[in-house]
Amino acid sequence: MKLPLEQFYDAIVVGAGPAGAIAAKTFAENGFSTLLLEKDREIGLPVRCGELVGKRGLTLAINPDPSWITHTVNGVTFVSPKGVRVNVPCPEPAYMLNRPVMEKSIVQMAAKYNADIRVGTVAVGLLRKKDAICGVKVLHHDMAIDVGCRIVIAADGIESRMAKLAGLNSTITDLNDIGICAQYRVTNVESPEGFPELHFGKNIVPDCYAWMFPKGDGTANLGLGITAKAAGKESPVQILNRFMTLRFPKAKPLALTVGSVPLGLYLKKLVAGGFMVVGDAARMANCLDGGGITFAMNSAKLAASIACEALSEGDVSEKRLSVFEKRWKNGVGKQQERSYLLKRAVLKVNDSTIEAAAEVLINKDPSKLKYIDLLKLTVKNQPALILEAIKLFK
Ligand SMILES: Cc1cc2nc3c(=O)[nH]c(=O)nc-3n(C[C@H](O)[C@H](O)[C@H](O)COP(=O)(O)OP(=O)(O)OC[C@H]3O[C@@H](n4cnc5c(N)ncnc54)[C@H](O)[C@@H]3O)c2cc1C
Repeated sequence: MKLPLEQFYDAIVVGAGPAGAIAAKTFAENGFSTLLLEKDREIGLPVRCGELVGKRGLTLAINPDPSWITHTVNGVTFVSPKGVRVNVPCPEPAYMLNRPVMEKSIVQMAAKYNADIRVGTVAVGLLRKKDAICGVKVLHHDMAIDVGCRIVIAADGIESRMAKLAGLNSTITDLNDIGICAQYRVTNVESPEGFPELHFGKNIVPDCYAWMFPKGDGTANLGLGITAKAAGKESPVQILNRFMTLRFPKAKPLALTVGSVPLGLYLKKLVAGGFMVVGDAARMANCLDGGGITFAMNSAKLAASIACEALSEGDVSEKRLSVFEKRWKNGVGKQQERSYLLKRAVLKVNDSTIEAAAEVLINKDPSKLKYIDLLKLTVKNQPALILEAIKLFK
């Protein structure tokens, strides 16, 4: 027997990742009838994520329950191509999350306010009336059902189809703007400092970086990302195996996941009549490190809050919803634009510059390090990077 679905909701949220969970919670607690659709069979799984977030970004989106946090992080270890370790205190704390626990918990909050939740249920199309989206075609236990609504929030992740179906241009054309990742959950990793580690160097990854994030429970997320442009003969999993053998020879894998992250700019258009797109689906992430959890949650909170106002006013037109576009562009969007420019410069940094930086940093108290030291170092090693740096401050 299939679970019954209402024929009509105020809001349908597609995807129950961090973005979709927050959007559904926001609609439901504001009294709007809500349907949350998740194509996977269990909310929060599989974990395609290093699970490291900044405390500030997370608490902006939601007051985190202690059960979501496995570990508080106060520093990061940078590891140079030759293995020089530099410990840098975090300017503000970060958290290692248990994402399945967090996502289920937020979805439970939505359920408390009567949101309908369907797992193993795929949104396969959008319904249209004149120029506006007015519902979702749902595949629910092999049955195709049309469910009407006043607004759809697409939180369907990097592989989003909803944005394109709504007529938004979501194609990533620059291969530098997509990161391909592979990650093991491992046990038997040793880290002298216990900090998350970021490993750099062409001997480790063709570009971007590799990571080892201790979970605080004897396991760690050990992974790496490369741009699609750098993807060559070796698959990310093969590169990851090499990295693990080189730097963590005792590690034993417990799980393997692969996934992608957006490393470009957010979509130019984020709304259509009766439709909004958030999180990875809208290509919202830190272009420098691929971190997207807090971007997803905060974009969803902002979009759903604006959508709640629009629903109350009875106006879900593209014009009314475009407030979201403007607020994103003038807020977090600016941060993303800056990280995009920075990424373009960082991708050009060569191993000898990283090595030289590590040699300078290792002997200094990072809090006392002056930018002029780094500037001198950069000029000496890679004068061309100065031009990239100037663009950042324009
Ligand atoms: C290997 C890896 C490591 C990462 N590490 C970090 C990290 O340490 N810190 C960080 O901040 N970010 C990290 N990220 C990025 C982070 O995982 C994403 O930015 C974040 O998950 C985006 O959240 P979201 O809700 O937008 O999308 P997702 O988390 O991708 O959620 C989308 C959901 O929609 C569902 N869905 C898709 N299509 C449909 C459909 N048609 N119908 C119904 N459901 C659908 C999917 O099953 C999924 O559950 C990492 C990513 C990868 C791949």
